[in-house]
Amino acid sequence: MAAGSAIQIPSRLPLLLTHESVLLPGSTMRTSVDSPRNMQLVRSRLLKGTSLRSTIIGVIPNTSDPTSDCDDLPNLHRIGTAALAVQVVGSNWPKPHYTLLVTGLCRFQILQLLKEKPYPVAEVQQLDRLEQFTNGHKSEEELGELSEQFYKYAVQLVEMLDMSVPAVAKLRRLLDNLPREALPDILTSIIRTTNQEKLQILDAVRLEERFKMTIPLLVRQIEGLKLLQKTRKSKQDDDKRVVAIRPNRRISHGSITEDEEEEEDHDDVVMLEKKIRTSSMSEQALKVCLKEIKRLKKMPQSMPEYALTRNYLELMVELPWNKSTKDRLEIRAARIVLDNDHYAMEKLKKRVLEYLAVRQLKNNLKGPILCFVGPPGVGKTSVGRSIAKTLGREFHRIALGGVCDQSDIRGHRRTYVGSMPGRIINGLKTVGVNNPVFLLDEVDKLAKSLQGDPAAALLEVLDPEQNHSFTDHYLNVAFDLSQVLFIATANTTATIPPALLDRMEVIQVPGYTQEEKIEIAHRHLIPKQLELHGLTPQQIQIPQVTTLGIITRYTREAGVRALDRKLGAICRAVAVKVAEGQHKEAKPDRAEVGEGEDCKEHVTEDAKPESISDTADLALPPEMPILIDFHALKDILGPPMYDMEVSERLSQPGVAIGLAWTPLGGEIMFVEASRMDGEGQLTLTGQLGDVMKESAHLAISWLRSNAKRYQLTNASGSFDLLDNTDIHLHFPAGAVTKDGPSAGVTIVTCLASLFSGRLVCSDVAMTGEITLRGLVLPVGGIKDKVLAAHRAGLKRIIIPQRNEKDLEEIAAHVRQELSFVLAGCLDEVLNAAFDGGFAVKARLEHLNSKL
Ligand code: ADP
Repeated sequence: MAAGSAIQIPSRLPLLLTHESVLLPGSTMRTSVDSPRNMQLVRSRLLKGTSLRSTIIGVIPNTSDPTSDCDDLPNLHRIGTAALAVQVVGSNWPKPHYTLLVTGLCRFQILQLLKEKPYPVAEVQQLDRLEQFTNGHKSEEELGELSEQFYKYAVQLVEMLDMSVPAVAKLRRLLDNLPREALPDILTSIIRTTNQEKLQILDAVRLEERFKMTIPLLVRQIEGLKLLQKTRKSKQDDDKRVVAIRPNRRISHGSITEDEEEEEDHDDVVMLEKKIRTSSMSEQALKVCLKEIKRLKKMPQSMPEYALTRNYLELMVELPWNKSTKDRLEIRAARIVLDNDHYAMEKLKKRVLEYLAVRQLKNNLKGPILCFVGPPGVGKTSVGRSIAKTLGREFHRIALGGVCDQSDIRGHRRTYVGSMPGRIINGLKTVGVNNPVFLLDEVDKLAKSLQGDPAAALLEVLDPEQNHSFTDHYLNVAFDLSQVLFIATANTTATIPPALLDRMEVIQVPGYTQEEKIEIAHRHLIPKQLELHGLTPQQIQIPQVTTLGIITRYTREAGVRALDRKLGAICRAVAVKVAEGQHKEAKPDRAEVGEGEDCKEHVTEDAKPESISDTADLALPPEMPILIDFHALKDILGPPMYDMEVSERLSQPGVAIGLAWTPLGGEIMFVEASRMDGEGQLTLTGQLGDVMKESAHLAISWLRSNAKRYQLTNASGSFDLLDNTDIHLHFPAGAVTKDGPSAGVTIVTCLASLFSGRLVCSDVAMTGEITLRGLVLPVGGIKDKVLAAHRAGLKRIIIPQRNEKDLEEIAAHVRQELSFVLAGCLDEVLNAAFDGGFAVKARLEHLNSKL
């Protein structure tokens, strides 16, 4: 402070209203400016003004919430500090904002508010007489004893701090040189005091009062430091420095032990350093962190890099370098958990148990990474969760669908603005242990882009030989991932990059049969939905036939997700009914009035339960349990979405049903053919891939070469099928891309039907690749395809002979309901696809019936 110079502050001062901090004369404060009034003040007074006078402003503390002072000026504190604005730092991002560095000069009192907008200006009276400092020994004599006592404590306090810190040494010099009158203000702003205490000091206009109030604060600080020194000998240096540099910290009025705790809490950087030293991070990481914290200490807080470095260090401290949960692996218990959580999926559960058993015997994770591949909603994620449960580990799901930037996996380098760690490191931070179960969901949907290939980044994560030193770009030090149990899920292996697939053991999770779905619904989905909607089995009853109805008429999927949603919709509708009922029960009179004949119509065979479709008797409280029958289904879910359309569509020659495999499970697929006069052209429509187009050409070539044998003719009776004839083959659902060789047999059958004019049996579906010589080769996805045919109500399925082994995977009851034809060559396919076979003789029959 400019002691000795006779400073007279202007009699009119613009007022800066601060909310949190209190500026005392002789101290410097950095304050952030974001309220409209303060912004105006900075803009029109400080940024535009050129004279020294214009940099003097009045700082009024303790204003209530200055950010919301749009219209009315809040009540202002009567006394404030005239201050010199030393520095204005501004930024426009993310929103306009200034930081102001102000040095307190002297107290003033507001006499009269002259204007309120755009920023307040007041007529003020200076309270501290600055010119007295040079010659004013009068007050010192008067207050001799008080000021001596104060000075003694001040010296004691400063001596407890480390003189090697420049700020402390400067303070020591100031103590000797400054007039004593100035000391209470300066010391109060340096030691730890609350805003309230500072405000009291500011309000103490009389010097005597000020000395009296400051002494207890000094004593408290000295006691606190003494205790602290005992416990933190080694880190004294930093503490004192922070005490000296950051004067505005609050502490509570609690006991001295609390002070000590508070002290530790508030010295953020020191705390951070302590945390770093006590954390169990690797040696390499520790070295990097200590280097960073050293830089942090030297950095001004306003530097953008300060926040970056701090975030980085905080992440490093938070990471579970050495923290893990204890595995409690017990195979019998694991089996029970898996069985309880999931119905069916025996093959998957068996493989998972084997995997866990090996882990129990051999305490080592270097096994293959399991990858569950199957259609959506078949329980892949949920099995992953159960595995975590059986192991007693934390579970974390990382959705990889659509990830196209390798930084998503491996983090951004810290040089980028907004850089952050990758999903793996983030996941570890979230779970807080280093041995969670990570479920890498949808690995087949990773994409590539200019930002690199995330699949390649995953290679390092998943390779047990490499992942003990996985280096995230953001961390820039190695983190050991070898304790993490990775499980991947995908809908198809086709789009998983081969190198990634190579690291994983694929376990196929096929779709469910209708019977399995009914069981899953009744054992798992319905109880779960009831609980979610606050219903009990006494309130709603969903019979198995209804569930079957939902499965066949409202869903067509391999998994159970849509089924789950439909059940949710039913529960919601019932919840409304139940809630309404409760409401009406409270008014029984109305309920009786509504009882009329109408109600009888809706009573089901079981006299008690009531259908939700009853709309006529809304006035009645519903009788419990509410039975969900087909009427109710229609009311809630609308008309059925899928009908059995198969037989209708096979009412003309030239249509056959094939079986296709898609990432969403198996599907039945119609193939349609028509012929017309032309020049032997083949037209293919329906978004076909190259392989499928080739199959179509193969089929035509084979039929042409065998036309005589089967008595197939074109419209003009010629055995040259393409003579003056064009053929059009169409695969409906034209928006969906189709490819693969397995439609070969279906195309042959469809064309054979077209050229022979005979109908393909309406309950037959088929799949198989063909060769030019008429052999039928095996194809994949048999189980899914068979289930799709079963769902669609087909009875006979033609599959390649060499796929016979795949039938074993299919549940016995499904096999019983279907008849399988194992075909080795196309003759056998055609024989099975047409009623009465497709031998040479058939032509005569056909001719008889057709002509
Ligand atoms: P996915 O990951 O294969 O797409 P989810 O694991 O998310 O499917 O499963 C969807 C829902 O179906 C979950 O609520 C799950 O509990 C349930 N579910 C799927 N299969 C079964 C099963 N076999 N037994 C019990 N619930 C199942």
